Amino acid sequence: MRLALFNKGRLALVEGSDLIDVTDQIAGADTASPGGALHRYIETVADGSAVQFDLAGRSRIPLTGAALEAPLPRPGKIIGAPVNYLDHKAEMDYTTSVADLGIFLKANSSVIGPGEDILLPYSDKRTDQEGELGVVIGRTASHVSADDALDHVFGYTCVLDITVRSGEDRSTRKSFDTFTPLGPWIVTADEIPDPDTLDLRCDVGGTTRQRTTTADLIFSVRDLIAYTSSVMTLHPGDVIATGTPAGVGPLAHGDRVVLDIENVGRLEVGVDGSRAIPYDQRPGRHSR
Ligand code: MN
Repeated sequence: MRLALFNKGRLALVEGSDLIDVTDQIAGADTASPGGALHRYIETVADGSAVQFDLAGRSRIPLTGAALEAPLPRPGKIIGAPVNYLDHKAEMDYTTSVADLGIFLKANSSVIGPGEDILLPYSDKRTDQEGELGVVIGRTASHVSADDALDHVFGYTCVLDITVRSGEDRSTRKSFDTFTPLGPWIVTADEIPDPDTLDLRCDVGGTTRQRTTTADLIFSVRDLIAYTSSVMTLHPGDVIATGTPAGVGPLAHGDRVVLDIENVGRLEVGVDGSRAIPYDQRPGRHSR
């Protein structure tokens, strides 16, 4: 299944080129809640009370022209893998990888959906795109083995881990509002039997910057879940951004960023630099 949010938080199945609204079939789906109706559905799958969607007689809404929203507008946690491809480690001259650094957290308030704009914070610091496979947790996971890890996955989505190259701490540099574009939908795990063989491509301004296969991950999806769950309990609706390959680069006002992951989807967002300020003028700069 492909599950999306649209029209101010309504939950839809994506079938071919259509959306089918199934919001009223989710018990307790409160479209006004910050986690959203899809987060609620993931919880019902986790506790065994999930409905089988009944699509008989339902009207279809063409995807073309429908305004999709982030499928998880406020995930429980967003976990990132700092250096998880060897070619990205080389391009950044890093001497360490995820195996040394562990994981980091991004603010869950940084999520935006398809068609929205990444806001550049600083006019004189690079803000880069990082195209990544996103893993959506479906079952509570604590100290799970790599062999059992995929049993805890609800599905997959496209994630852009937007990052400003300032001197601030990593969690700050990746947590500005709009810095986690997510979507366009979540593909359930049954459609992706092996997440470690997916082609990934990220274009900026019509030029391909990143092209890889998730087979090149240093920590595979299984390894990441096993390692992360040894640090912190993973809950249904948490998201792991699995890391970015080589080809990160600066975003400019007016750019379009397109992330395409095989069998998962195609996420497109814009870039707005009109509110960027010089780094030296950020609030608190002169405090001590
Ligand atoms: Mn990243």
